[in-house]
Amino acid sequence: MTESVFDRDFAEIEGLAKKLRLSLDQVLDDLKASLLQRLTVLALPLESVGADIAISYVKKVLGEKATPGVLAEFALHVEREPVSDRAYMDLLVRQANRCAVCGRRLTQYVRPQVDHVLPVALGGLTETRNLRSLCRTCNQGKGMLLGWPLSAPHFETVITPRLRFFVLDRARGFCQHAGCELRVVETELRPTLRTPHSEGGRTVLDNLYATCETHYSQIQDQRIRRWNLGYSGTSSFRLARQ
Ligand SMILES: [Zn+2]
Ligand SMILES: [Zn+2]
Repeated sequence: MTESVFDRDFAEIEGLAKKLRLSLDQVLDDLKASLLQRLTVLALPLESVGADIAISYVKKVLGEKATPGVLAEFALHVEREPVSDRAYMDLLVRQANRCAVCGRRLTQYVRPQVDHVLPVALGGLTETRNLRSLCRTCNQGKGMLLGWPLSAPHFETVITPRLRFFVLDRARGFCQHAGCELRVVETELRPTLRTPHSEGGRTVLDNLYATCETHYSQIQDQRIRRWNLGYSGTSSFRLARQ
């Protein structure tokens, strides 16, 4: 009985795969990716996504109605071992008291939070090498990355916390300006446009990179100067014609 149900399901999957011109290996890969995505969603820090977002995640990704029971189970998965004071102090020393992603100083004002680099639900352990302390903005940005690392924020056109986190985390802690080697233990990093708006650049993932404070202000100054030059150039041109 069980075998025939299995055979029928299997034949159905094979038929669907054939229509999509997929091999069974590819179908299995898709299935694995989808399971991983579900696990990843379970691993999102509940406190940073908020209850209403959690409800829609559960509905969308698990395909289940977010009843109190389902939500309780969801919350259970993100419960983590507490980080000891000792481990937290080690983290702060290692990160020179700055956010591991954006380099902001971890004062009370930025509300530091401990993040598991590899989420607990994916087997990440509460041990120093899997922990990092983030400012609240970075932690929120990470929390909003549904299905990370499967979906990058490709369609955002303003710098949301999610896009900001993606750009800065992609830099792996370094200023990405050519020749600069400053790291987040020494500087803040900021999302910066490669091609400025004035030259047609858009605020999208592919046109953003992370720069240190020095390069950020250098680039902004250059752009303002160039813009002013262009502006006075135009007006003197107008004056000359009059
Ligand atoms: Zn940060
Ligand atoms: Zn730099």
